[in-house]
Amino acid sequence: MNPTILVINCGSSSLKFAVIDTVNERVILNGLADGMGQPEASLTVQQGDERVTTPLPHPDHGAAMQGLIASLTQRGLMASISAVGHRVVHGGESFKASALIDEGVLAEIERCVQLAPLHNPAHLIGIRQAMDGFPGLPQVAAFDTAFHQSMPEHAYLYAVPMALYREHGVRRYGFHGTSYRYAVLEAARMLGRPQERLSCVCAHLGNGASVAAIRDGKSVDTSMGLTPLEGLVMGTRSGDVDPGLFNHLAETMGMNALQTTAMLNKQSGLLGLSGLSSDCRVLEQAAAQGHEGARRALEKFCYQLAKYMAGQMVAAGRVDALVFTGGIGENSAWVRARTLEWLAPLGFALDPEANAACTGGKAGFIQGQASPPVLVIHSHEELMIALDTARLAGLP
Ligand code: ADP
Repeated sequence: MNPTILVINCGSSSLKFAVIDTVNERVILNGLADGMGQPEASLTVQQGDERVTTPLPHPDHGAAMQGLIASLTQRGLMASISAVGHRVVHGGESFKASALIDEGVLAEIERCVQLAPLHNPAHLIGIRQAMDGFPGLPQVAAFDTAFHQSMPEHAYLYAVPMALYREHGVRRYGFHGTSYRYAVLEAARMLGRPQERLSCVCAHLGNGASVAAIRDGKSVDTSMGLTPLEGLVMGTRSGDVDPGLFNHLAETMGMNALQTTAMLNKQSGLLGLSGLSSDCRVLEQAAAQGHEGARRALEKFCYQLAKYMAGQMVAAGRVDALVFTGGIGENSAWVRARTLEWLAPLGFALDPEANAACTGGKAGFIQGQASPPVLVIHSHEELMIALDTARLAGLP
């Protein structure tokens, strides 16, 4: 059996994992432990068509890691695991690429907790659990922010006093970097050109959504900023609003900054506009049956997306392709079609049949005649993390 990489994405109430053979670029097993911190927690492991869910004895990350190790041992996979790769949301300005974890790297991830207070502490728990559970194996951190560290100053600065940047790290960082890196790799392969000569605009549209401008293989701008709240309309996040909203809601409704931030993160976006759901699939079905809120939410989503894609073309300089990825980008022919209608004045058009065919993991070209290429790419962040981990651990 080839050496394999265990990829871990540890959140505050869940631990997602995948075992990947990087030689064949194949997912051998994946799953998640969830319900941590609640009375009942469970571990679900999927291998091929077989899916098994078992309760965890304690609802904590330690029990989740022990359950995962027991499951890997029982399946005869433990011996093949040669390194562990961790998704880490925020690497601040310290990490421009994935890094082999040592005490210094752990301290830097800790330092970035103030930039990602919901995510980085959970990642640190996952890393420590994996160091205990897999002693002696190389551990690698792959940062969502790292790919965007190539953004130039004019893209990453906010127009606020420079002391906020210099003394407090207030700037645009961007997220979804690992997904974009994979999309660029795949787009270059599909277009038959080297990555360093690929300029494109990519949209990662999942529950969180963002757009990135790639110039000669490097990220030069993206729609998310200091936090993942900036930019596009998302499942439950508002994306851009007037920052004057904070004071307005304080004066008119007595809402403090924490309350407004929670509302913008959890009750806004597709959910807030539709009054129905944050789930694009549910909204498409409801809109087709005449639900006004669902129609409104999807219209705003596509309009905002198209405006951002057009803006990112300025940053990319040349558009060799538009790329759609993430759950909505990969599956929603309707969202792609509506967005491309807005971009028609810029010369983009779809082939309706090719567009309809790209769902459920099928990647491909969907542009119409005389349009620059439009690509659908199946997002594979775990594979990208596994490939980085294998490389940094010196594995095949
Ligand atoms: P996450 O950001 O949590 O990883 P995903 O990338 O899985 O999320 O994307 C989830 C989104 O993808 C949801 O809004 C879901 O409705 C949407 N989606 C998945 N399949 C379809 C589909 N067939 N048609 C439309 N939207 C879909």
